[in-house]
Amino acid sequence: MTQPLQADIVIVGSGIAGALAAHALAQAGLDVVILEAGQPVDRAQALQHFWDAAGKAPDAAYPAQPQAMHPVSDQPDRWYQQAGPDRFKSSYLKVVGGTTWHWLGTCLRLLASDFQTRTRYGYGVDWPISYEELEPYYCLAEQALGVSGSSSEDLGSPRSQPFLLPAIPQTYLDLELARALADTPFRVQATPQARNSVVHDQRPACCGSSSCIPVCPVQAKYDATVHLKKAQAAGARLLDQSTVVQLIPDARGKIASARFQRWDQSEWHIQARIFILACNAIETPRLLLASHTAAWPQGLANRSDQLGRNLMDHPTQLS
Ligand SMILES: Cc1cc2nc3c(=O)[nH]c(=O)nc-3n(C[C@H](O)[C@H](O)[C@H](O)COP(=O)(O)OP(=O)(O)OC[C@H]3O[C@@H](n4cnc5c(N)ncnc54)[C@H](O)[C@@H]3O)c2cc1C
Ligand code: SF4
Repeated sequence: MTQPLQADIVIVGSGIAGALAAHALAQAGLDVVILEAGQPVDRAQALQHFWDAAGKAPDAAYPAQPQAMHPVSDQPDRWYQQAGPDRFKSSYLKVVGGTTWHWLGTCLRLLASDFQTRTRYGYGVDWPISYEELEPYYCLAEQALGVSGSSSEDLGSPRSQPFLLPAIPQTYLDLELARALADTPFRVQATPQARNSVVHDQRPACCGSSSCIPVCPVQAKYDATVHLKKAQAAGARLLDQSTVVQLIPDARGKIASARFQRWDQSEWHIQARIFILACNAIETPRLLLASHTAAWPQGLANRSDQLGRNLMDHPTQLS
């Protein structure tokens, strides 16, 4: 066994959560290591995979690799093992940059009422914070991603700052629908998008090729490689093809080190003062549960026994 690697901060996962954290912490002068299970994506190759695929599912551009398996849209039971009546059918990617490679870039905020469903409607649980407390952080996130939107349009979530970039023009179909619905209670409203409406952050403006899911050919759509590159320029180290298989706690249950495997089957350890788990809503609890020990038989960070429960997606109807 080789000597463990060392860092101030280890971030597991290079998606949007990991990349933004890595950038901020590396900029603050900390020694940051990012461990990522997947490999880098070649944008031109991803486009070719998408064009060649018979089914144009979101992951069509990113063939699953056995060393870093991810859910496959048209075979949901291949990766997920699900029990119970409600099956989770969405997907995620295991590549450098994570799931933003095939996200749509829609940047809606929650409504103030979403934070108080128990008080207002008698169901669910109220959040411990309010919309107003979160609002400045929405602004920061929108600035970081470069969100395009109409600051004068009321989407139900009050804003303290305008959008960074002007709105993306509505399509002919949007305008026709809006005209047809004019005398009804329904309104056609454009959603804010992490897509460049103008040249921004050394990336081109959206040219309307309309393949945001699964891949933007010109990177007008934000993906997490934007902040990964900035993080690396600020000194963060990215180890791709490196899957964390176990988190090792100290006597108090605080993560002290991690064991990871590289695609060449070699095994490594890394120690850090702080571990940030940014593996997404499914893989983060999975890793914490899989890291159970005799002292922590329910997995790490699971004194509540709620770890990995109550997974929620957002309801949507796409037409
Ligand atoms: C088709 C689609 C469209 C979407 N569109 C939108 C949208 O328009 N707007 C919106 O807000 N959201 C959207 N989402 C959701 C959004 O993409 C995700 O919520 C977000 O990208 C998750 O970011 P993350 O950093 O938490 O995780 P991810 O981006 O999933 O990154 C996690 C990373 O961790 C790595 N990893 C996992 N386990 C390990 C391990 N053990 N060791 C090392 N690395 C590991 C993975 O390889 C991955 O790269 C969409 C999702 C899908 C599937
Ligand atoms: S250029 Fe095409 S894929 Fe990229 S953001 Fe615009 S519409 Fe989406």
